[in-house]
Amino acid sequence: MNSSGFDPAGHARELEDVARASGWTVRYLSPCASGPRPWLNRAALSGPAAPHLYLSTGIHGDEIAGPVAILEMLRDPDFFAGVHATIFPLLNPDGLALGTRGNAAGIDLNRDYRNPKSAEIASHIKTLKTLGRFDAAMMLHEDYEGIGAYLYELNEALPPTLGGEIIASMGRHVPVDLRPVIEEVPARGGVLSRKELIAKFGPIEDRPDWPEAIYLSLHHTRVGYTTETPKPFPLEERVRAQIAAVKTLLHFF
Ligand SMILES: [Zn+2]
Repeated sequence: MNSSGFDPAGHARELEDVARASGWTVRYLSPCASGPRPWLNRAALSGPAAPHLYLSTGIHGDEIAGPVAILEMLRDPDFFAGVHATIFPLLNPDGLALGTRGNAAGIDLNRDYRNPKSAEIASHIKTLKTLGRFDAAMMLHEDYEGIGAYLYELNEALPPTLGGEIIASMGRHVPVDLRPVIEEVPARGGVLSRKELIAKFGPIEDRPDWPEAIYLSLHHTRVGYTTETPKPFPLEERVRAQIAAVKTLLHFF
């Protein structure tokens, strides 16, 4: 039994069963003590000329809405019908079992993509190197002290209005964080833009500790969204908000 109430090994089994039943290929990153780390891949059901979407979550163990939301999406065999999809749904099983942001050694895995110290991210990068380019990436996160939904947008290719549309869809399930400054970054209607992030932190590749979003933007995609749902709200509402965010991106494609 674990201390968080979330069972990553059981969740992995459910993900694998649901995914295999609708034609996903299931592969694995290096395992953790608390469970395996499946990742999923499926070609678009709509045909070869489809965009390629990257999704990931469960990298912070105290943020469970993302992993729960991915399982919900996979239960609908047609949810991802229009895209080639690659999904990493459970990046930090030990943290999820413990209910901690970091892994069992206390490393924040989402700051470990520059010179990885953790086996979890070394393995993730090794696998990423075998994958090509994505048309967009979305990473599902939560904010422990959040008062509403917001998102980080590293978008150099899709319409700049898309971030606002994604937030609006999340806002049908949880409030939107409308503060002018979020996490010390100027925000507009819950969107923290690439431009504002660079103005605040400098060129993204100069950051000493790369999160997954920066690694992806440097190597795999020109479009990355990091969604944040507010943890003080009920899990069901946060899950709905995360599903709505992914659905809005899919709808755009
Ligand atoms: Zn997070």
